[in-house]
Amino acid sequence: MFMSDILKVDPEMAAVLERELNRQETRLDLIASENYASKAVMEAMGCVLTNKYAEGYPKSRYYGGCEYADEAEVLAIERAKKLFGAEHINVQPHSGSGANMAVYFSVLKPGDTILSMNLSEGGHLSHGNPASFSGQLYNIIPYSVQRETEMIDYDELEKLSKEHKPQMIVCGASAYSRTIDFKRFKEIADMTDAYLLADVAHIAGLIVADAHPSPVPYADFVTTTTHKTLRGPRGGMVMCREEFAKAINKSVFPGIQGGPLMNTIAAKAVAFKEALTDDFKKDQIQTVKNAKTLSETLIQNGFRIVSGGTDNHLMLIDLTSFNITGKDAEAVCAKAGIVLNMNTIPFDKQKAFIASGIRVGTPAATTRGMKEEEMKFVGNAISRAIKNAGDDAALEKIRLEVKDLCERFPVYK
Ligand SMILES: *Cc1c(COP(=O)(O)O)cnc(C)c1O
Repeated sequence: MFMSDILKVDPEMAAVLERELNRQETRLDLIASENYASKAVMEAMGCVLTNKYAEGYPKSRYYGGCEYADEAEVLAIERAKKLFGAEHINVQPHSGSGANMAVYFSVLKPGDTILSMNLSEGGHLSHGNPASFSGQLYNIIPYSVQRETEMIDYDELEKLSKEHKPQMIVCGASAYSRTIDFKRFKEIADMTDAYLLADVAHIAGLIVADAHPSPVPYADFVTTTTHKTLRGPRGGMVMCREEFAKAINKSVFPGIQGGPLMNTIAAKAVAFKEALTDDFKKDQIQTVKNAKTLSETLIQNGFRIVSGGTDNHLMLIDLTSFNITGKDAEAVCAKAGIVLNMNTIPFDKQKAFIASGIRVGTPAATTRGMKEEEMKFVGNAISRAIKNAGDDAALEKIRLEVKDLCERFPVYK
């Protein structure tokens, strides 16, 4: 794939990429934030627009020769508007974290208060973790999930909000398997005149297919990545109402970025065109069905799923009763050809780098064409791997079965 010139210029790198392609084809990717972009999307990422400087926005650039860059960006914006129905969209953020930064910088001052979900209970670094710029610039009041249900407790959230009067409330998560009630979030934000930011990085594709409610009618700002369930190139995007359009555009450029990655914006446009199809929507609905089947299979095998199950594309598996840490389970599954990540569970006693759980998601497997039957196999395979953690021969047997499955569902035909 796209390798004939790399092979001539840089055989060493061509060999690395060949190994990575082989890894992606022969191992089962259950990382909830990953997906496989189409060849069309990747062609766009490698296109001539990588050569173009286009600081500014369509029709008002700081460089000459931007007429086709303008066309590419307008296509991306128009298609994104069709997908999400937002009034204003900025497709320039290089990443999801950058999109969040652009929102904070557009309406907040350093020291302002943000009410956001704890990283260890499912939130994202860029929602105010002390290790992130967001935690260093703002006064962060974290909210958590309820201990018994392991779901967001909206009454508790309302209490916290009234007590701390934040300038902004952030919802949306990286490791939360339940439907988010954006309407309720907006009602709570309105009580104290706080802005509402909905970060749908993980569930954007589901929203396009109505497999999760959309925050667009409620939130002041909606941010997303384009490479997770949305299945596009790595990148970010901000949506908002017209009243914030100028502030958001200024905040992205020149606020935090210089020239936009025009090749990536072209690839975003291609991915959005794909996302407008019925096939894409069917896949998103299948992604949710697959997650449900996977969680049921794991429960039948004696595993505890955080909050008891999933409404979306992912779940957290609590490994406490299996006497194995998330870190070790990640390594064991890797030996069995299954790629997933350790993750803290709510109120985890372990540190993030050890963790008591693993996170699994079905977007990438669903893009390969896998359905419920394969998810039952996958759930049983995870279970066998963890129950045979010390037995390398057993893990090797599972790896061959997983490889077989992957070869029946090639990514790039
Ligand atoms: C993945 C993710 C992001 C950040 O995306 P990057 O492109 O890696 O910066 C932001 N918010 C949430 C909720 C995410 O899951």
